Amino acid sequence: MIEFLLRIWRLARPYRFRLVLGILAGLIGGLIEPLMIATIGFVYGLIFPDAGGKPITEELRHAPEFIRHWGASVQDGLAKGVAAQPWALAGLVAAIPIVVAFRGLFAYLNVYFLQWAAVRTIADLRTRLFEHITRLSAAFFSGTSTGQLMSRVTSDTMALQHVISNSVAVMIRDPATVITLLAYVLWQQPRLTIISIIVMPVCMLPIAIYTRKTRAASRAMQTNAAELSAVMSEALTGNRVVKAYNLENIVVQQFRETTKKFIGNFMRIVRAHEIPGPLLETVGAMGVALVLVYLASSAGQRPSSRDFLVLVISLFAIYRPLKNLTKLHISLNQARAASERIFQLLATRNNIEEPARPQPLNAKGATIEFESIHFSYGDKSVLHDFSLAIQPGQILALVGPSGSGKSTIVNLLLRFYDPQSGSIRIAKTDIRNVSTKDLRDQIAIVTQETILFNQSLYRNIELGRPGATREEIVEAARLAHALEFIQDKPQGFDTIVGEKGVTLSGGQRQRIAIARAILKNAPILVLDEATNALDTESERAVQQALDELMEGKTSICIAHRLSTIQKADLIVVMERGRIREKGTHAQLLQSRGLYSKLYELQFESLAP
Ligand code: ADP
Repeated sequence: MIEFLLRIWRLARPYRFRLVLGILAGLIGGLIEPLMIATIGFVYGLIFPDAGGKPITEELRHAPEFIRHWGASVQDGLAKGVAAQPWALAGLVAAIPIVVAFRGLFAYLNVYFLQWAAVRTIADLRTRLFEHITRLSAAFFSGTSTGQLMSRVTSDTMALQHVISNSVAVMIRDPATVITLLAYVLWQQPRLTIISIIVMPVCMLPIAIYTRKTRAASRAMQTNAAELSAVMSEALTGNRVVKAYNLENIVVQQFRETTKKFIGNFMRIVRAHEIPGPLLETVGAMGVALVLVYLASSAGQRPSSRDFLVLVISLFAIYRPLKNLTKLHISLNQARAASERIFQLLATRNNIEEPARPQPLNAKGATIEFESIHFSYGDKSVLHDFSLAIQPGQILALVGPSGSGKSTIVNLLLRFYDPQSGSIRIAKTDIRNVSTKDLRDQIAIVTQETILFNQSLYRNIELGRPGATREEIVEAARLAHALEFIQDKPQGFDTIVGEKGVTLSGGQRQRIAIARAILKNAPILVLDEATNALDTESERAVQQALDELMEGKTSICIAHRLSTIQKADLIVVMERGRIREKGTHAQLLQSRGLYSKLYELQFESLAP
């Protein structure tokens, strides 16, 4: 627990000034609580001098002379009747609301400052978590569900924030109240106080039991929340499939079941929060009952009714913050459970390591060399002793059956993954010695699934080189043969494309992606050609756009279009992670190997 609190403290350090202010306000608020009870007792004693207790002058023996004097004169005056001392009475009556107002003010400042710090601390944590996740490697993402990650960033941090901001106030103020009140009653009535708190340790048992239960339940509850968000994100992003296969009922059923589990765990936490409080109060009342039994059965000196009243009020006033403290204990355990996975995720290391001293990279006019690459995804071995050199300005076409490892080569070039052995060099520099930012700056990529963001067409192109001018963006769109269809849209460049670009046709999406790559103007180009047949019109426009794009660059194409393949300077035919054949279109056709078979199967009908 200490470790957890230290962690939170480290996160909160930037806000320590307000945190300390909040803590101070809490301490003062805590100290005012016994002052309030003392004031009530004091005023009561003044107004009802017959109620017993020490005479007022005795009570005030440590106070300055003038207050003692005032106390005595007020008591005398009151004995003669209210009319004789109207101001004294007013001052006396005002004392209670004034003390209460101060208590309220400090309680407010306490909560305000602590919440101020808590919400910022958690917001920082959330941002850090999001940044950390965004920068994690491709391998991490292929092993984790989006919904789970989203739940980690939103729901886990929310739970933490909720608990922390509700408990920090209690954490400071209530222990101060308990300690000062206890000290006060011990000072006033040592014997009776001890008798009344003898039973207190009994409370520890339910608290201990419920603490354990909460931790398990809140861990489970956060898991349920993550499951809910996973189910939701899958069902929403895959909504078309859900509709087409009539899966709505199944998806909703799954959601309902997880919700049910969530409710169960939530109620477990509610019970853990709410049961110890009344138990504690009952035990407190038993303490008071014990005192009464003691007083009734002992012949010793009895306290005055005022002293007894003060004792009973104080004891109940002790149990309220004590009740809060048990809730706090339970809440902190809940927070610890919620934070476990956050910290675990923050500790996940990126397995693509950045070089300590990155070398500069200039890929323009550079040779790209793959040397004896062996690579596997986990246990699945994908590339075996793959070696290849691509000369500057060349167009390389990678062809081969699906699953033969073509996309993997591209993944390695972009350093989404590192090979288990062998190296990739650009301009004789191993890409592991270059910063990933520098490396990826020099590569433009147009993938099969053209990822568009749900923003305007303009912004989607601009992402190729954030900060590009409007002229450059329009020019890129023109070169990508996208300008015509953009201008046909009623809102032109401001058209919002919908999630993943659903409002555009396949060919249009690709041309936007190409415009983005043109704008980036990187020396190396990676093309993962779409397999879906574009209509002839689109095909021609996309092809022209690609020609513009490849101009003067070193291009690696996972090629499906005959036109790209025929134009390639080098065709590499892959099969099960190895290079089967290498050469130009004409050479490969002549050798009558795998390529010519693929060619006959796929393209013969299309060939001119
Ligand atoms: P291609 O692009 O030639 O179709 P890939 O390079 O995509 O082939 O895939 C090669 C092999 O690696 C396939 O058998 C595929 O199942 C496997 N594979 C691809 N990506 C992953 C991944 N993230 N995790 C595990 N296996 C993968």
